[in-house]
Amino acid sequence: MEDKKLCTDALLLKINQLESVLNNVGAYIYTKDIHGNYTFTNQPLLNLFNKSCDQVIGRDASHFFDFSFSDSLRRNDQQVMRENITLETEESNFVKALGESRVFKTIKKPLHNARGDVIGMCGISTDITEQKKYETIIKEQKQLLDAVLDNVDSHIYMKDHLRTYRYVNRKAAGLFGLPVEDIIGKKDIEVIGRETADNFWISDKQVLNSNQKQTCEEIFKDENNNPRRYMSVKMPYQINETTPAVIGFSTDITELYKLKEELQKQANTDSLTGLNNHRFFIENAQREYHRAGRYHLPLTVMTLDIDNFKFINDNYGHPAGDQVLTALSQSLLSIVRFEDVLARTGGEEFSVLLPETDMHQAGVLAERIRFELQKLKIAGSWSGEIKMTVSIGLAALKKTDDSFEALFSRADKALYKAKKQGKNRVCTSA
Ligand code: GH3
Ligand code: MG
Ligand code: MG
Repeated sequence: MEDKKLCTDALLLKINQLESVLNNVGAYIYTKDIHGNYTFTNQPLLNLFNKSCDQVIGRDASHFFDFSFSDSLRRNDQQVMRENITLETEESNFVKALGESRVFKTIKKPLHNARGDVIGMCGISTDITEQKKYETIIKEQKQLLDAVLDNVDSHIYMKDHLRTYRYVNRKAAGLFGLPVEDIIGKKDIEVIGRETADNFWISDKQVLNSNQKQTCEEIFKDENNNPRRYMSVKMPYQINETTPAVIGFSTDITELYKLKEELQKQANTDSLTGLNNHRFFIENAQREYHRAGRYHLPLTVMTLDIDNFKFINDNYGHPAGDQVLTALSQSLLSIVRFEDVLARTGGEEFSVLLPETDMHQAGVLAERIRFELQKLKIAGSWSGEIKMTVSIGLAALKKTDDSFEALFSRADKALYKAKKQGKNRVCTSA
């Protein structure tokens, strides 16, 4: 008798412990009979229903959930018992006591009697409503971000410190000629080839080392192997504690660059003859002047003026004068060296800067120019051919020169001297 009581006490203790566990697992636990009526619910489920045990046991779920919103719960229960299977699924159920829908992750299993017949079911359901909400928010935010990043007019990428692409937008993938999913997770040299990858990596690495945003220009060949120019802004980004990365925004500025170069060329070029203009001449002359001074190199300047050009204009007309200027320019271009700076510095005045050339060498060149131009015969819509002569002034850099202007003005004086002495000649400055 005493033994039996001890045994019952131990059993009760065990049941209490078990109940305590079931009430504290953070999930809703329940069993139902074959008709779907509750035979057991843990305390959290009673709390959810806001009912006592007596109000729940023996009743089916329709008392506590509104099936007009969703009856997936009932259908899942029936399937578990009818097909004798375990079902792991998500359910969205409208809880009457809360007046709102909650999402549950549920595992439902059939219960059997000794003969193996299905006599009911048991289930564990976890409320994942909040988790689902965050998942939805994150998914929507990702979709929004993708939509924005895929539609900006920039190539965007993220590369980690081991040169692995972590992100590319659609435009960048298009540039590399691969689908996005074939780029992410790959190293740069696998995607764009070693030479280009190494070039890009130089500035990527600078960003990683300095942890500072940088702007640079980069060149990348398109599918037709034509180089295209990009303005890239690269910024440091920490993916996690151990993974630094670079985010790059590269914009194609090829057309803009061409336009800039074209404008620059136009600003430096004389439109009639295609030669450099006065502005370009002075800019380059200043540079050569300083270089010659620094390295003690000889430097000579030549100024050239067409003799009696007014006469050509007056006799043959202004358009003919223009043609003479063009023909003379072509001839001059064919005579001077690549490193000489030839420019139309006035109406019918030209200047040539001769780096690393002394007065003697310049004199030889000037005589050759005078001789060649004298031989020119310019034919056009007029009768006969136009011929001309030129006067040339030369000046060489002196130690006492304190500016390029000083040198240039001596060349002008020499030209004036040539004119005064009867034209068609070369004169040098004192
Ligand atoms: P000199 O031998 O002393 O140099 O006499 P010149 O007639 O050549 O010199 P002048 O300075 O009296 O005349 C230069 C002329 O060059 C006057 C101007 O109308 C003409 N000229 C200047 N620019 C152009 C141009 O772009 N086209 C044409 N056709 N003529 C020009
Ligand atoms: Mg003249
Ligand atoms: Mg003149």
